Amino acid sequence: MKPVDAQVRGCYIDGEWVVPKKARLIEVKNPGDGSILAYVPRGDREEIDLAVKAAKKAFHSKEWQTFSSYHRGKLLYQAAEIIRENKQELTKLETLDVGKPLSQSAVDVEIAARYFEYYAGIADKILGETIPVEPGIIDYTVREPIGIVGHIIPWNYPLQIAARSISVSIATGNAAVLKPAEDTPLTTLKLVEVIEPLGLPKGILNVVTGYGHEAGAALSAHPEINHITFTGSVETGKKVMESAAQNIVPVTLELGGKSPNIVFADCNEEQALKWVLKSIIQNAGQTCSAGSRLVIEKSIKEKFVRKLAAAMEKLSIGPGMDDHDLGPVLSKKQFDRIQGFIDLAKQDGIRIVTGGERQLVEGCEQGYYLQPTILDDVPVSHDLAQEEIFGPVLTVTTFETEEEAIEMANGTPYGLVAGIWTENVGVAHRVASGLQCGQVFINHYGAGGGIAQPFGGYKKSGFGREKGLEALQNYTQVKNVALKY
Ligand code: NAD
Repeated sequence: MKPVDAQVRGCYIDGEWVVPKKARLIEVKNPGDGSILAYVPRGDREEIDLAVKAAKKAFHSKEWQTFSSYHRGKLLYQAAEIIRENKQELTKLETLDVGKPLSQSAVDVEIAARYFEYYAGIADKILGETIPVEPGIIDYTVREPIGIVGHIIPWNYPLQIAARSISVSIATGNAAVLKPAEDTPLTTLKLVEVIEPLGLPKGILNVVTGYGHEAGAALSAHPEINHITFTGSVETGKKVMESAAQNIVPVTLELGGKSPNIVFADCNEEQALKWVLKSIIQNAGQTCSAGSRLVIEKSIKEKFVRKLAAAMEKLSIGPGMDDHDLGPVLSKKQFDRIQGFIDLAKQDGIRIVTGGERQLVEGCEQGYYLQPTILDDVPVSHDLAQEEIFGPVLTVTTFETEEEAIEMANGTPYGLVAGIWTENVGVAHRVASGLQCGQVFINHYGAGGGIAQPFGGYKKSGFGREKGLEALQNYTQVKNVALKY
């Protein structure tokens, strides 16, 4: 595989590509075949400090403070166009870096462009209010930028999440420091490179590559950061929150999920099968909102699961560059973690309906490919039904009543997304209202494309909302002004 030129880019600090003096590097591997794609700097406290100071200077500069909302919006529209002009390269790079099939990376690139368009339109529509407190007083609110925003990005959707982070930060008038995941930093660097000619003031956008316990920890603990947005695991989320607490800094945490598809006997079977399958195999199950639990009415379980298994067995597995249905999982570490859950199923006598094995792909012996897997009749309290597996592994549990379905769906520490499958509108809305999660899809999974819809968790799936207008709450703060006349 041809090396990617990101290796000479370094970190992006104060409008310059900087290779740290210590020149310690991180190998970035192709999950498809284990080959080395690039080397990026192992930035740490020093680079984070430089980036935050650059962001602070840029944020307070006359240039940025007088940069009109119209111009911020215009620049974001242009960024969307540039992303589309570079679609092929970004798509290929995302697939090389994350392992996902090319067609899924192409969707990610389009979503990245659409984040820029969506927040471009909002830049000059961030409104305040007037409040009729009493005669002789004019009282109004202004929604001001929060300042310096730190974004810690996960490895599963790096381009989408970098685009979302940059677009909303700039639309709201902030300065940003991004820390991509050490495994998948390449499209974040490429994105910054392609939008660089737009001429954002130096320091408004910065990227420091590095490990989580070094660069990530330094970013979340930095005293001059005003907001932290984190997407990743619950354990790391706790650490980020603890660091932020020392500086009284608000955080938005988008953590994991164990999202159910709740399938009733009266569902449109064809559609339910299609989306239950899609929601667990997308990005080889490495999606925070993956539909990783099938909670299904007992009377149709056998038939539905048989059809689902048959559909899974027809899927093609192979390198993302060949656009198979399933690519590899990210790394040996992720593979071992998923395999550990499958071993647990075997040990506890849980029936593996299909899958459960590593799939060897010729010429890709160093890539970690897993067969999509269904685990039948998993007790609700079992670790397999409680913990996020983050791979193409679906657990099945049955219910007999609507109340039982709701209880089962809510019966994990997570609360990110749920799918409901029924032709009965009353049941659909009753169940939706009983679910403890941040997003519910009825007779679809992912309807609406996600950009304009607020996204985030209940319970251990986190708090705060990204996407849509709701995200503006994270990136702005409200000032109240009262004038007596
Ligand atoms: P992680 O939480 O360790 O990493 C996410 C990001 O946090 C990365 O950029 C990482 O460098 C950074 N990070 C790590 N330690 C840090 C620290 N101490 N301080 C600040 N930042 C730090 O997640 P992971 O190890 O990449 O994956 C582990 C599990 O997390 C997965 O198996 C999955 O369950 C979950 N996960 C969820 C999502 C999601 O979209 N919600 C995304 C990725 C991973």
